[in-house]
Amino acid sequence: MIVETAAGLYCEAGGFHIDPWLPVERAVITHAHSDHARPGSGAYLCVDAARTVLQRRLPDAAIETLGYGEPRTLGDARVSFHPAGHILGSAQVRVEHRGEVWVVSGDYKRQADPTCAPLEPVRCHTFVTEATFALPIYTWDSPIAVVDAILDWWRGNRDEGRPSVLFCYVLGKAQRILAEIGDRADGPIHLHGAMCGMTDAYREAGVAMAAAERVGEGMRGKALARSLVLAPLAARGTSWMRRLPHASDAFASGLMRVRGVRRQRAFDRGFALSDHADWGALLDTIGETGASRVLVTHGWSEALARYLREARGLDTGVIRTAYEGEAGELTSSPADGPAE
Ligand SMILES: [Zn+2]
Ligand SMILES: [Zn+2]
Repeated sequence: MIVETAAGLYCEAGGFHIDPWLPVERAVITHAHSDHARPGSGAYLCVDAARTVLQRRLPDAAIETLGYGEPRTLGDARVSFHPAGHILGSAQVRVEHRGEVWVVSGDYKRQADPTCAPLEPVRCHTFVTEATFALPIYTWDSPIAVVDAILDWWRGNRDEGRPSVLFCYVLGKAQRILAEIGDRADGPIHLHGAMCGMTDAYREAGVAMAAAERVGEGMRGKALARSLVLAPLAARGTSWMRRLPHASDAFASGLMRVRGVRRQRAFDRGFALSDHADWGALLDTIGETGASRVLVTHGWSEALARYLREARGLDTGVIRTAYEGEAGELTSSPADGPAE
């Protein structure tokens, strides 16, 4: 019912692609991360909650939306969106045609996240799952514990008069951290300019977050010495960092679960906070769909497919996609595993 094409996953009965990586006539979008939502398609369909972020990512796009659970007939197929718990407006796409049901997950997680609706497992015959962190070494601590650790680290630096630079992904992670901090900030929070657009989009969409201000042009040294500064990893090692002498730096990513990666990247601290499901959550979610066939996309796809086949007796396959996961900016090497 859904096939691989050069442009991405295609539903012939419905005449649409899901998260295509080349321009197509009609794109159904799971979420607004740049590897899933690319420019140039004729028409875009996403869930209501994704509109503000998707429009900001694709200013010229013609975007139509549906509420979660609201069905739409496209060609001979019935399509609906269901929460994926990944970032604001992330959705699994359910496609039904002649009694057969497929669900394409996009990216998803099961941890509580104040910025988005929690994942709802959807029963289906075939489930297309991501596999970003599909290895048993990936198990997440509670987000509350991680945020407590971030606040402790910040407080310690602040008492020494050093800024705390927390690298994190521009869409999703930064806003989740701001929302988790909420009214617990006991110092100023500043944002690298690249963080501001998406953070504004979240505020426009009504997500409550800690107050944060853009790092101004002339701001440096003492002006930021008490601050928590959120910045994209791409800013690391650039001249932008010169305004933050003696900063302590940290990276918030599921990749920080692996000590070797932390050491190799030489961050002062790593906080394993991920917007993807860990190993247990992947297996639970796959089980809850009741699917007898599971097709695995980006990440540790071969490992997950093999496990599902051997341990669960499921019919499995691997789909090659152009999705890179959450932080395509972190150039991955085999030692790193997949980019988050
Ligand atoms: Zn992805
Ligand atoms: Zn994503």
